[in-house]
Amino acid sequence: MDREARIAVVGAGICGMTAALALARCGFKRISVFERSAALGEVGAGLTLSPNATRALIGLGLGDDLERDCDEPHTGLTRHWRSAAILTRSERGAAIRARYGAPYFQIHRADLLDMLVRAVARQPSIELHTAHALVGLESRGDATELAFANGARVLADAVLGCDGLKSAVCHALFGVTPAEFSGYIAWRGLVPQSVLARPLEPPAQLFIGIERMFMRYHVRHGSLVNVVAVARSDGWTDEGWMIPSTIEELRAQYDGWHEDIADTILHLPPAQCFKWAIHVRQALPRWQQGNVVVAGDAAHPMVPFMGMGAALGIEDGVVLARALATHGEVGSALVAFERARHERASFVQRESARRGLRLMSHDPDSFGRTQEVSEDSLGLFAYDAHAVAV
Ligand SMILES: Cc1cc2nc3c(=O)[nH]c(=O)nc-3n(C[C@H](O)[C@H](O)[C@H](O)COP(=O)(O)OP(=O)(O)OC[C@H]3O[C@@H](n4cnc5c(N)ncnc54)[C@H](O)[C@@H]3O)c2cc1C
Repeated sequence: MDREARIAVVGAGICGMTAALALARCGFKRISVFERSAALGEVGAGLTLSPNATRALIGLGLGDDLERDCDEPHTGLTRHWRSAAILTRSERGAAIRARYGAPYFQIHRADLLDMLVRAVARQPSIELHTAHALVGLESRGDATELAFANGARVLADAVLGCDGLKSAVCHALFGVTPAEFSGYIAWRGLVPQSVLARPLEPPAQLFIGIERMFMRYHVRHGSLVNVVAVARSDGWTDEGWMIPSTIEELRAQYDGWHEDIADTILHLPPAQCFKWAIHVRQALPRWQQGNVVVAGDAAHPMVPFMGMGAALGIEDGVVLARALATHGEVGSALVAFERARHERASFVQRESARRGLRLMSHDPDSFGRTQEVSEDSLGLFAYDAHAVAV
């Protein structure tokens, strides 16, 4: 495609910022990112970056920043909710680097977004517009007009909808595609390692029990423990997705769990205790139409039990930019992007849902007795977004 084409990226989350950076590195000169929030930010929580994600980011020149800002666990454990018996062990660290040629990292989400924001700011071809909430799209000949809540209107030759689960771009393309409650509630938070009774060693541990799990891993060089607690629930009635919760409510969910879990809950900062109803959408049969496409959670939201949602958004950003750079015309580039990515994303959506059922079954005692099906065993780590055919 003509490198002077006007490309609009809607949403400055992990997917949108990766896409913008990848486009600039492919030589596109007129990239605009539109973000609805007045200030860029991520939730106060951690993120695992599997080798497929780090490989994609390293290819965008972020290798040194990742090495500086990330934690690298040497091992990941799955443990029994009450006894802490080790159910499965995953080699990480050097073993992952040797096998995949890219690291497995843990990072504070805000640090990853900051890293992307700094990299984007170094690219003169990218303009970032905050306080621009997309409200509509209209076809104008070969171009598309974007309408924003602040009254601004912008013409673009290609529109990339990286605007998350409740995507306005997805809505404009395919009509109402409501997000549905997945049946899982998550509590997320960060606890200073220094206040806990024991150091988290190894620095990535998942405790599993009946219809519940409790994940802890280090970020910020071991100074913080990221907590993701998930419980199955069929009784969600609240409208909001991020509801204030209490330490007491969380403690009641994990009554009788191992003392390390009780200690972690005790030290969660009460002011930051929120519960999230995890929502997903049915898989979309298509992601593109004309010169508009959706990517990241806007295209394929999933339950988080493989820790792959952001990783897939990062891969999308790289493959999307390569497709636009390779093909002469925007429509065929977006079809090629969808062809390259749809099967993988749909597969991970399905497998993430299955893994949730296995992790939170009614028989945690038998977990790991048969070969564990994980993101690693499924071969997801080997994917190279910079090399896949577009
Ligand atoms: C509990 C939990 C744990 C997880 N853990 C992991 C993990 O360890 N590893 C992993 O890879 N993934 C993980 N995920 C998944 C991951 O968080 C998401 O897949 C990822 O953040 C999606 O990124 P995105 O950029 O596609 O969307 P988002 O992060 O939702 O970003 C969308 C952006 O678009 C903006 N926007 C929305 N609407 C508009 C509009 N109308 N106009 C303009 N801008 C708009 C938003 O403000 C936002 O900035 C987890 C998810 C959950 C719920």
